[in-house]
Amino acid sequence: MTDRELPLVGVLAVQGDVREHLRALEAGGARAVGVRRPAEVAAVDALVIPGGESTTIDKLTRAFELREPILDRLRGGMPAYGSCAGMILLADRVEDAIAGQQSFGGIDMTVRRNAFGRQVDSFEEDLAVEGVPGGPVRAVFIRAPWVERVGEQVQVLARHEGRIVAVRQGALLATAFHPEITGDTRVHRLFVDLVAHHLRRRGEAPVGAPVSAQFRTKGT
Ligand code: GLN
Repeated sequence: MTDRELPLVGVLAVQGDVREHLRALEAGGARAVGVRRPAEVAAVDALVIPGGESTTIDKLTRAFELREPILDRLRGGMPAYGSCAGMILLADRVEDAIAGQQSFGGIDMTVRRNAFGRQVDSFEEDLAVEGVPGGPVRAVFIRAPWVERVGEQVQVLARHEGRIVAVRQGALLATAFHPEITGDTRVHRLFVDLVAHHLRRRGEAPVGAPVSAQFRTKGT
């Protein structure tokens, strides 16, 4: 596969741990670029919304006039992955949001902000994540949300003590934890496989990377 055939994944670069995601995406088999202008939103195959602070990312995307272009792309089926704050931004419904806080939505789920943070600010755990081969993922939770409810279309990929902490709906993936800061790039590889599969289905890229069985059977 030449470089040009690798999916181009943008990382929303207004706030949060952008650099960590760029590195993890490249290690996971994509080309990766920071996105902070509308034209850049239009140019990428997929978008990562990083961990950080969802209220700030929301405000800045509106200030930079990125909200509408991102919503348009998501409505058009662009794959996206959100970690922590990014998970909140991909949720159709947010509990404990601040006044006026908006999400992009896309995943039929209710996410509670800072849900784990009320108990303990941050913690780590080895977590089995469906679709990630090779054993548990070191999951780092930092003032993390959890998912309180999911719709029928949502596949639960991981739980921590019964709480849903990783989900997928079609080409949208979200984790309450931060795989980008551990050096383990398997979750990013899962996302890049999902993006490549999505592009092939739309006839936008040649057949290349293998796709894990769940994406073939679950219908993305
Ligand atoms: N608590 C943050 C928020 O509400 C998320 C924290 C994180 O991304 N590590 O956006």
